[in-house]
Amino acid sequence: MNKYIAFFLSVLLAVVGNVKAQSMTISDYLQQQQPGLDKARLQLQDIEPLIKHYQQSSLVEVTELGRSVEHRPIYMLRLGQGKKRVLAWSQMHGDEHTATAAIFDLLKYATAPEQAAWLKHWQSEITLYLIPMLNPDGAARNTRVNAQGIDINRDALALQSPEGQLLMATATKLKPHYGFNLHDQNRFHAAGDAPNPATISLLAPAYNEAREINASRKAAMQLIALVKPWLDQQIPQHVGRYNDTWSPRSFGDTFARMGISTVLVEAGGHRADDHRQVARRLNFQLYVQWLDAIASGSYQQASLDDYEAIPFNRSGGMKDLILQNLQLRVEQTEATLDLAVNFHTESDRYARIHELGDLSVHSAYHQFDVSGLAFRPGKAYRLEKVLQLDTAAHLKLLAAGYTHFSGEAKLLQSSSSLPVLLNPLRPPQQTPQLRQGATFLLVNAEGEVVQALLNGQLLELATGKVRNPLGT
Ligand SMILES: [Zn+2]
Repeated sequence: MNKYIAFFLSVLLAVVGNVKAQSMTISDYLQQQQPGLDKARLQLQDIEPLIKHYQQSSLVEVTELGRSVEHRPIYMLRLGQGKKRVLAWSQMHGDEHTATAAIFDLLKYATAPEQAAWLKHWQSEITLYLIPMLNPDGAARNTRVNAQGIDINRDALALQSPEGQLLMATATKLKPHYGFNLHDQNRFHAAGDAPNPATISLLAPAYNEAREINASRKAAMQLIALVKPWLDQQIPQHVGRYNDTWSPRSFGDTFARMGISTVLVEAGGHRADDHRQVARRLNFQLYVQWLDAIASGSYQQASLDDYEAIPFNRSGGMKDLILQNLQLRVEQTEATLDLAVNFHTESDRYARIHELGDLSVHSAYHQFDVSGLAFRPGKAYRLEKVLQLDTAAHLKLLAAGYTHFSGEAKLLQSSSSLPVLLNPLRPPQQTPQLRQGATFLLVNAEGEVVQALLNGQLLELATGKVRNPLGT
């Protein structure tokens, strides 16, 4: 091969293989992400093989910081040897694992041969310390708290939990300049007034009650301001600012008081994204940009106006489902109202009636106008002999008013493609009751069943189509 062509090809390959993280398309990202972490929850056994893998890498130093209450190891991984020290920790709440996956995306990206030049660029400036699962006991139980029942993020002053003690001892010893406090937030936060979930919320936590801005908090605000325009492009109107009320027991606020420029990142919900993979990708891309900006100091040019322009989260602004203009008659009182349904979490499979009335100020992952249709309670179909239930038979039973089945499970042989409710935990009520099951019929003025809500999923009887199947 002509040596010029060979040279050209090698440059081209280097460029193609070296897609900058912040300009990655979703398919670029999916090709390079750490496989195996797109799950409803992550526990220590999900990340330990990866930690073992990085123990073999000459680029990463792995240490066991200490042990949890139940003696699970808590690891820290270090990259780089620069003067600017950055400490990031995830999953101090055991059921918040999105950033843990993003940390392993970052490790995979930073140690890939095609990123050698990028790694070299920042690791002479930065030493990066990563604690990817501070609360492995909570992760094992899928709880926010640790095995003592303590919320580690309210233990920064009392330091009663071994996990909190380890985090504080690490920060005291390493004296990081920058801290990244990585969490998942309630999926029902809306991004300000937008009708969308806050998929990413950011905050430079306050270090005192007056929420003053000193040099270290200003740096944290500028790191956030720097990425705001990029986030607005990636997820327009899905970016929020977390509540900035001073919370002295929290690590973010305490570290801010210790002079660490601390950024809180909250990964939130997104439509059709049960495992928060959108927030995971954005987290990873944010880490890369922050490393670049800290290495170069470029964030110091960012305007605090961009930080202030991020709207605060609107708590409870999102619901899973809102049915608008449902007619409801209770005794002699008739009303046309909105009805909201929530699942407790993305992986929860039990839909509950959440709120009734004028819900026009709220938004929803799914919203349907059911004007002209009235609530009617569903009946239980009592299984007394074997029932072969295909979709057509199921639709006929729904049209006849049966929303669910009761009796022995073995008597129901279902091939129905619709949601089948057998012996529901809380049987549907005669009128909608808060926190009870979201299963009922919707009838037209002639009293015909036109639609049915089956465990929070709205079915059109004429087409047999479920308009918001679980996971969408
Ligand atoms: Zn949290």
